Amino acid sequence: MGETKANVPPPPIFPTTPIFYDDLSGIDLILISIVLWGWGALQPTLGDDPCRNWLDQERLKKEVLYGPQPNRGTRLKRSYFRFPHQNTMIPQAHFSIHALQAGYLTLPEAFFVTPLEDNTSRTTVPSLSFLIQHTHPVSLKTTRIVFDLGIRPNLSDYAKPLYDHAMTRRPLSGEPGTVASLAHGGLTPSDIDFVIFSHLHWDHIGAPSDYPNSTYVVGPGAASLVNGTRELSNGSHSHFEKGILDLSRTIELPSPELPSTPPPFKDNAKLEPESRKRSSLFSNVWRSKGLFQHSMDVFGDGSLYIISAPGHLDGHINLLCRKSEDQYVYLAGDACHDPRLLTGEKNIATWIDPAYPTSICCIHVNKAAAERTIATIRETMENPGELGNVEVIFAHDAAWDREAKKLGKFFPGCL
Ligand SMILES: [Zn+2]
Repeated sequence: MGETKANVPPPPIFPTTPIFYDDLSGIDLILISIVLWGWGALQPTLGDDPCRNWLDQERLKKEVLYGPQPNRGTRLKRSYFRFPHQNTMIPQAHFSIHALQAGYLTLPEAFFVTPLEDNTSRTTVPSLSFLIQHTHPVSLKTTRIVFDLGIRPNLSDYAKPLYDHAMTRRPLSGEPGTVASLAHGGLTPSDIDFVIFSHLHWDHIGAPSDYPNSTYVVGPGAASLVNGTRELSNGSHSHFEKGILDLSRTIELPSPELPSTPPPFKDNAKLEPESRKRSSLFSNVWRSKGLFQHSMDVFGDGSLYIISAPGHLDGHINLLCRKSEDQYVYLAGDACHDPRLLTGEKNIATWIDPAYPTSICCIHVNKAAAERTIATIRETMENPGELGNVEVIFAHDAAWDREAKKLGKFFPGCL
């Protein structure tokens, strides 16, 4: 008996059966989340590379959900924002901006800038789109926004008046398009919560139906262009496809002129449930930010502002994105089509189109308002004040596009 007992190995101090993460209860996952968050909180880092942050954050979330992930050698990082003149540091959302390739077109310069030495000169320019990712520092929820969808990859899908206009802008292409550009970084349209349109011109609206689960966001007054209640006659570029946006998934921002706090969405009741839930991000009050009179702080943490940038088209909006405490990127849409307008070297052009004999055509619906918007952007670049440093990128910025390709700023690279 004694010999038999001596051959029985002692019970293990630690269980030898591996723990599978599938076996963990919800409470365990919450505890793991708290521990991982606390770990991150002990490692304050300022001025982190946002691309690195994004990748780290993705891995952190996977570790919480599925257990240890490969490539664990890299330290998980968490960004902090330090209040000026205080020692307090608060967790800062992970925020990254990535360029997307959404085609190119060729602009006759005479329609955009004046005076010109050669009135027949044409320039081939990109139609840039951007991906913006925001991860909440505590809930780790990532919200993804695509800003503009560029040119439609399948050009023959445009309504005939737009197709005919587009053909005057050759060389022209909608390739590879935002869907293919997102795929370069492993994302699909179902990962995109919002598509924000700077405005609804054909070379920015792309193919909205490629994003069947996203909520569309348009500027104040823009919805009237696609619900058939408003028509424009300032040039052949001003045709809009009725019904191109599913209005049950479209949030039209309230007018900055409305004094209520915050003004209610005009058609909120028509929104399908998911978009109605998401609409809370766009219910904030318009306030001034820097020299911009009307800005909306989307996440309430100063990382992303929608800027009302009137003049180019009804509801024209821009984005001001925080890269770090004193570095911002200003996505200017079509506030400006040529860098010489920003420097003051050139003025906005006008022309006569026989198809619209009673109008003086201009690429902007309100030239005076467009000039004021350009002036505000120019003053912000020259004197950014509290913003520190502002990089301005307009949608058809050929020089920026060339440089960004060399520097790897297109997704999965970042700005
Ligand atoms: Zn435009």
